[in-house]
Amino acid sequence: MFRLSCTVCHWQAADGDINTCPECGQTIDIIFDMPEIPLDTTLPGIWRYTAHLPLHDKKHIVSLGEGNTPLLESASLGESINLSQLYFKMEGANPTGSYKDRIATVGISRLRELGKKTWAATSSGNAGAAIAAYGARAGLDGHLFTLEKASKDKIAQIMSYAPQVSAVYRLGYDPDVEQATWANIIQVCKQNNWMMLVTARAFSPHAMEGAKTIAYEICEQLDNISPDVVYVPVGGGGLLSTAWKGFVEWHKAGKINKLPRMVAVQAQGCDAVTQAWNDGSTVSTIPDCHSSISGIQLTAPPDGNLVLQALKESQGWATSVPDEETYQAQAELSRREGVFVEPASAITWAAVQADKAQGRLTGDEKVICVLSGIGFKDMTAIKNMVAEHSVPLITADEILSKAENGL
Ligand SMILES: [Zn+2]
Repeated sequence: MFRLSCTVCHWQAADGDINTCPECGQTIDIIFDMPEIPLDTTLPGIWRYTAHLPLHDKKHIVSLGEGNTPLLESASLGESINLSQLYFKMEGANPTGSYKDRIATVGISRLRELGKKTWAATSSGNAGAAIAAYGARAGLDGHLFTLEKASKDKIAQIMSYAPQVSAVYRLGYDPDVEQATWANIIQVCKQNNWMMLVTARAFSPHAMEGAKTIAYEICEQLDNISPDVVYVPVGGGGLLSTAWKGFVEWHKAGKINKLPRMVAVQAQGCDAVTQAWNDGSTVSTIPDCHSSISGIQLTAPPDGNLVLQALKESQGWATSVPDEETYQAQAELSRREGVFVEPASAITWAAVQADKAQGRLTGDEKVICVLSGIGFKDMTAIKNMVAEHSVPLITADEILSKAENGL
């Protein structure tokens, strides 16, 4: 069983339809009374870890078979920088193409358990697609509020699941609009008994528990030998913070005998968390975003301080990289590893290279890059990647001459 506990003050309570601490307004953590994590392999997707997911009755589970994504060992890129053990956690293999499915399966299942019929969310794309897909499977109505400049490819995927989609003026680059959007969604959800699903622990602490299963799986896939360093892209910060929680829980369950160091990876033009880490301060809102990396463009990371806590506890660090290095990393993953990811994933490989060059990695560590979403998510980035290569139109006969000329 599980209970609720504030991450800041001493408030604790049994589970209830509540998303933030009633005493101080801060983020709630979900505490599982039993440290053991027995597996139930009869359940679909990530629900094999049901003992550590916040749902009371399994009959409410809505799953599309999420999780169990491959952990690939690098074929050549690790070796190219004298890194002997580099692995890619392939979250693009989830049903809607990103790790957000792990969160959506928990959020939508809990929505059903609470007897609600409608969800409301804000998302730059991947979370919206995941929530809309699981909502469609459960037969629910949904309202998605997205960024003014959201990726058209991501919005097209979301619209295929047929929720109500609106783009919010100035959302995505104006911190005041970001705050107002969250506050207004909370209000409309309260008034209408809708479920707010935002993939941040600060707003949807129960649903976010789904993301920690990435850590469980990484450990299982390494035969329960903990990795040494885990690189995670950070926008809002929920992924890194919950992945760290997953490693801690797996450790407390006695399945691994040490914990990894966590590395928060941000885009240089939008890196509130890195700035706070380097300054030794708490995360504050940055005035604007100068990065084009879709999915991690947050000026006010809602789980930013939980990321700082995870970096501190794990003796990790934060690394920011320029966008052009991220796009280069994305091309390298495709061309040299056969790994097709969106820029927000490739940024982790860019950060590994930067850290190795600066001596932050010795080369002997077992390093994981969490690749959060598949390349199809941002086709503009893919089109830019291949823009310099034209495709000549040839006749069938010319195939022979091309072979003779050594192509
Ligand atoms: Zn509190």
